[in-house]
Amino acid sequence: MFCYIHIPFCQSRCKYCRFSTFAWKADLDKEIYVNNLIGRIQNTESQKKLNSIYFWWWTPTSLNNNQLERIISALKNRFGFDDDIEITLETTINNITEENLIIWQKIWFNRLSIWIQTLNNRSLKEIWRPVKEQIINKLDIIENLFRKNCHSLEEGNLPYICTNWLSVSVDFIIWLPYVKKWETLNDIKFILKNYNFINHISLYMLEEYYDYPKKWQNLSIAEEDFLEEYLICKNYLEKKWFKRYELSNFARAWFECKHNKAYWNHENMLALWLWAHWFLDGIRYANPDNFIDYYSWKLDYKENLTKYDIFLEKVMFWIRTNWLEKEIYKNLNQEKIKYFVGQKLLDFQDDKLTLGDSWVTLIDYIIKEIV
Ligand code: SF4
Repeated sequence: MFCYIHIPFCQSRCKYCRFSTFAWKADLDKEIYVNNLIGRIQNTESQKKLNSIYFWWWTPTSLNNNQLERIISALKNRFGFDDDIEITLETTINNITEENLIIWQKIWFNRLSIWIQTLNNRSLKEIWRPVKEQIINKLDIIENLFRKNCHSLEEGNLPYICTNWLSVSVDFIIWLPYVKKWETLNDIKFILKNYNFINHISLYMLEEYYDYPKKWQNLSIAEEDFLEEYLICKNYLEKKWFKRYELSNFARAWFECKHNKAYWNHENMLALWLWAHWFLDGIRYANPDNFIDYYSWKLDYKENLTKYDIFLEKVMFWIRTNWLEKEIYKNLNQEKIKYFVGQKLLDFQDDKLTLGDSWVTLIDYIIKEIV
């Protein structure tokens, strides 16, 4: 079983954020939230061990290290951990210090996910994120720690060989304001040239997921350029041994995110935080989106998923990650599939249905049409 932990507090507000964040909540509020979360962990009835935990949205590192440790201990005591458990901490640049990195590792975190988004300072200031100099400074801290703790294969910019040290992922976003064509590619080149510890890259497009202020539309690259930029980044990453294992995720061998893969495989998932939607033994649960109901331990809803519901969700995840086998796609809309193959948005390879190279900005539309 895998588990998401979301901490609904942020240290500052990003301009494109579509969530109600509680950026300026006092420490007391955080302590109430942590105590409630621990209570929920202790009262959850499941005998399944955990094989991955992801401390994700909004900003988990807005909690102090003692609070993070208490949540992990509660999970370990209640469910037990598989020996090769992956525990990811998503952190902002601001919270990276040598001291924190050492503590995070001591309290079980073995994977870090860091939001970079772009190295264009004008853009970073526009979206209210830390600027390039701060990013570089923090990445230097991590690089120094890796040098101290791991063996480096200096030649050819190969990654560090580490046993028992953090694995690191960074996020980029294409389509941010003021970022010109090829700038994301150059940012990725710069990062990979200077930081050998990075073994996972997520490359998102802003519009699909976030609130996109209207005035940004003319400040970003054109839609057709987006596709070109994405494909050239993908080709570059593949040359650097980063394999694409989902449309937005690239990893070096052995560094695919276990947690992502469990999610896309529709495995049992525990998510006990405010606003969570989760899935356990064929039942979908949703927690309330407000503190009053959440603290009263109410559920927003609970529904039994039919086999067909699960099939549709699996199709959605499978095509984003890999391909559809014949016995799956033969149950989908054949006319629409034929149409999209004609448009080179889908492709047949050895009887398997895969994405063509022009699908990037249309993936959600294609999925909706073929199921
Ligand atoms: S984008 Fe993430 S870090 Fe930024 S305000 Fe929203 S939830 Fe917080």
